[in-house]
Amino acid sequence: DFDAPGEDLLQDADLADSRPKYRLIERPDEIQEQRVALPIHAEEHRIMEAVLHHSVVIICGDTGSGKTTQVPQFLVEYGFSDHDGPCPGMIGVTQPRRVAAVSMAARVKKELGLSDKLVGYQIRFDSELDSNTAVKFMTDGVLLREMAKDLTLSKYSVIVIDEAHERNVNTDILIGMLSRVLKLRNAPESKHKLRLIIMSATLRVQDFAENKRLFIKAPPVIKVDGRQFPVSVHFNKRTPGDYIEEAYSKVCKIHKRLPPGGILVFLTGQQEINQVVRRLRATFKSPKTATEANIAPVSVSAKDTDMEIDDIDLGGSYNSDALADADDNDRDDYESDDEGFEETLPETNEAPLHVLPLYSLLPTSEQMRIFAEPPEGSRLCIVATNVAETSLTIPGIRYVVDAGRVKEVCYDKETRVQSYRINWISKASADQRAGRAGRVGPGHCYRLYSSAVYENYFDKFAEPEILRLPIEGVVLQMKSMNIDQVVNFPFPTPPDHESIKHAEKTLSYLSALDKKGSLTEIGRVMSLFPLSPRFSRMITVGNQHDCLPYVIALVAAFSVGEIFLSEQESGADLAQIEAKKALLSSYNKSRSAFAALDPKCDALMTLSAVCAYDYETSKEEFCKARFLRAREMKEIESLRSQIARIINVNSGGRYTIADTAKLPPPSAVQLRALKQIITIGFIDQIAARSDLVLDVPEEFAYKAKTLRSQPYVTLLPTKSLAYEVDGVSVQDQVVFVHPEAILAFQSSIPEFICYRLVKKSAGSGKLRIVPMTVPSGTQLAHLSKNTGLVTYSRPLTRPHP
Ligand code: ADP
Ligand code: MG
Repeated sequence: DFDAPGEDLLQDADLADSRPKYRLIERPDEIQEQRVALPIHAEEHRIMEAVLHHSVVIICGDTGSGKTTQVPQFLVEYGFSDHDGPCPGMIGVTQPRRVAAVSMAARVKKELGLSDKLVGYQIRFDSELDSNTAVKFMTDGVLLREMAKDLTLSKYSVIVIDEAHERNVNTDILIGMLSRVLKLRNAPESKHKLRLIIMSATLRVQDFAENKRLFIKAPPVIKVDGRQFPVSVHFNKRTPGDYIEEAYSKVCKIHKRLPPGGILVFLTGQQEINQVVRRLRATFKSPKTATEANIAPVSVSAKDTDMEIDDIDLGGSYNSDALADADDNDRDDYESDDEGFEETLPETNEAPLHVLPLYSLLPTSEQMRIFAEPPEGSRLCIVATNVAETSLTIPGIRYVVDAGRVKEVCYDKETRVQSYRINWISKASADQRAGRAGRVGPGHCYRLYSSAVYENYFDKFAEPEILRLPIEGVVLQMKSMNIDQVVNFPFPTPPDHESIKHAEKTLSYLSALDKKGSLTEIGRVMSLFPLSPRFSRMITVGNQHDCLPYVIALVAAFSVGEIFLSEQESGADLAQIEAKKALLSSYNKSRSAFAALDPKCDALMTLSAVCAYDYETSKEEFCKARFLRAREMKEIESLRSQIARIINVNSGGRYTIADTAKLPPPSAVQLRALKQIITIGFIDQIAARSDLVLDVPEEFAYKAKTLRSQPYVTLLPTKSLAYEVDGVSVQDQVVFVHPEAILAFQSSIPEFICYRLVKKSAGSGKLRIVPMTVPSGTQLAHLSKNTGLVTYSRPLTRPHP
């Protein structure tokens, strides 16, 4: 019974009988000295005893204590990679990020110093492996895909799940699956035992260790002492909205005035990082000896473009007014923006600054430069994403500058939309980041936010990713790994049943699952894209009539949220309406483009705004004049090229998109196709005008012709029409057109619309929608989820008002 936790783990197959031959590996003195100095060195015996006697072992140790580089080497020395060892097979080590998989493989290879091929790595679209590989570093996604093909992981003797504290979905799913695989592999009759080592940079491991769904007998937890010097933490008095600028000036101040020691800056993504690196290099002398490679251009070789969240550029910063409110400036009299600058050097520090970027898409050779000694007489300054929080330890850091933000995938439960957001980190993350300053000696951490923000806005720990993500995507991914019973899956932190059920239903509307709940061919293609399933579905049907670049523009726009300023924000009620109306025609006039876009449809309205933006030279002015959100428009621009890249790479040659910018206006055929494509992606969100529906309670009856005078005209989801999508009826719910939807400016509304949900406005409790498109076809009785076409055959009984 695969679904039950491992009863037989009680009789942990004891490998101590087949005591391995310990094989001491000769290493160069210099390497050996470094190894012996690591805190984990003292625990080698305890760790290996535990691994021999237990099928699961958890290791907790501070970042830099030596977990990632040393534990695989202990395993090699104890024969876990020998063909005749206690567990014949490979040692597999997973990392949440590709940077870490590649660079840690290189480091362990160097430390082991054996045959070149002994240590390898595999990340999506790139690998360095051969038949002799004994230690394989990989991303957790790679191991998941391997499990889909070979559930028991027969090639491996040990799996090491690293960075488990990050609680990525992949890590959580891997641990859940492995808890069952261990049961099979360690059954008494099994000849081929498997060990699992879970490693965490924090002590918060109870979701794994004390989780009866996973392991009936709690696995041993081995703590490795950190070797940490005190770090003084300095909060900003005020929390600046522009944390990029603030980070830059803080580094300048540190470099000019504080004693030697490396600086590590935490920002959220590639674009921010490159911006700060460029400015710092322009401000300070670069060390002479360093051959300053240019900042890596965004275009990375195709095989290396598996998207990681760190690399998605969102630009932008926080609303500073809101932040000022968040700072309680009276509270902390010890906070001073000058604190920690007591040991100041003369302002005229002339030492060169050796500035390096660090983020996932940076080529590996560039990433590895962080480990090299900075050129003589210069100060090291690394500007990094979250990857430097626990995955990579940078030597010689004494100063940490923490912007306090991280880029995350977010999911709005109300609107069911997934997007990338820059959020506050957790207190635990902030402490990890501060800790980076105390590795070589006492250090300083400068937090670019106030202690009030830290206290009031930071969660204690980051929520496991699985609770933040739209469960549809997770379910799709699991189905693609042949896990059909998602509801019974042993998640370390399970999402609730109802939402899993709901996700399965949504996926079947999207044709990703068949009636039995198994993955369809369409679902398999969808699972290739790391996007919300609705968007993946639109892409799978978007590759016709050259629509894909338009679909990408739409998907990018839907991902960033609202692009038009609200009437309150713009403070120009009528002007804005006019601007919205004028958008199409002005673009049309000036570019003879987008003439035929449907003015009843917010999605196509959005599309025209996004496409018009490409042609504008003064984009800021364009946004101002059209009441568009400049930041969101910029985000869309960069998301479009990134989504195109993801599609090019992940579709395995199925689709190719050359360029997404400066699109010609869609043809009539393309427009019709686009409407169908949108409808297919939101097939379960179709509403009918309430006057079309039989037996509508009076209060919901269609009342007004123009929505401006009656903004809450109701639309009923089409279930009331007894309409079904391939035999499954959609949820029944009354929805209300958002008063700022473009449709609200029209003198009549169509009978059926395909909509997306927007946030309930406070107090009203009404579920507002923004109509996206009018399904093609005039009559509704059957809505095809494969064509998005509607046919209707029932007579309308309520007279049109
Ligand atoms: P942990 O996984 O516990 O955070 P690691 O095993 O990653 O610790 O790191 C142990 C030590 O090895 C750290 O001090 C780190 O700076 C050093 N180290 C890791 N990779 C390299 C490298 N490529 N070059 C030099 N030192 C490295
Ligand atoms: Mg590590």
